[in-house]
This record gives sequence, structure tokens and C-alpha cells, in this order.
Amino acid sequence: MNLLSGSCMCGSVRYEACGKFRNIIGCHCTDCRKSSGHYTAATSVRPEDIKFLDSAGLAWYRSSASAQRGFCRECGSTLFWKPDIGDRVSIFVGTVDGAIDLPLSAHIYLVEKGTYYEISDHAAQYLTAGADLSVDNCGLQSGSDSSAS
Ligand SMILES: [Zn+2]
Ligand SMILES: [Zn+2]
Repeated sequence: MNLLSGSCMCGSVRYEACGKFRNIIGCHCTDCRKSSGHYTAATSVRPEDIKFLDSAGLAWYRSSASAQRGFCRECGSTLFWKPDIGDRVSIFVGTVDGAIDLPLSAHIYLVEKGTYYEISDHAAQYLTAGADLSVDNCGLQSGSDSSAS
């Protein structure tokens, strides 16, 4: 898999992304919980690897001093998280259409996790940001990288 396509709930934002996708990370921080209603799961790509087929509804909310969240102003779907520093944009994978051939490899910001659910998968867990989240350390499932933790 080297292409993802997705959209918001109403279709006013539609995108395709290609390139090297980071493994999926679940974020349990307060901002992700507030913006999504639960917690978020996202891959990431370089900004230039996202092509918008329709961006009529796309708006950006500055959710912190260092990042913005891309959402649809029509339907409220939250689609992207873009830090000011670095060369990656997170794509919330709930907006992807069809199957995603990427593993969920970590959960982060457990320090702000909700008390009403348990994490029952075997992905790594980090109290805050974790080790190398800004690094494109995974890419696609090539079938040759079985040692990744
Ligand atoms: Zn929409
Ligand atoms: Zn978060």
C-alpha cells in the first residue's frame, strides 16, 4: 500500500496521500479526546504527499501554540494534525476509506487518558510523547521489517 484516500463525513474534504506512511499511533491526550470525542489514531506523511481532491470544507483550528488541527467546517470531522515544526502531517485514520495496511504500533499521552476504557492491544504505551514520533521510522509494510517493535 502506498496510497490512501479519505474524506470527511460530508465529503467537503477529500484527499489522497502517498509516500511513506508512519505506523499508526493512538493519542490519548486531552486535545485529541476533546476534538474527537474519544481518542485519536493517526498515521503521518509529508505535507507535499497529501493531494486534496476537494478542500471546500477544510479549515484549521490552532489547538495549541505549536500545532493546528484540520477539520471540516461543514460536518465537523477532524482529519489532520499539523505541528508548526517538522515535516509531517498526521492523518486521522478514521477518515480513510477502505482498508489500511499499517499497524497501530503505539499509544501515547497515557498520562491524559480517559478513565472509562482500557487499552487491550499489544502496542507500546508511553506516558507522554514517546520516543521517535517525528521520525519516519516505519514506512509501508514491506514484509521485510519483522523486527520492528
Ligand atoms: Zn465534511
Ligand atoms: Zn493527542
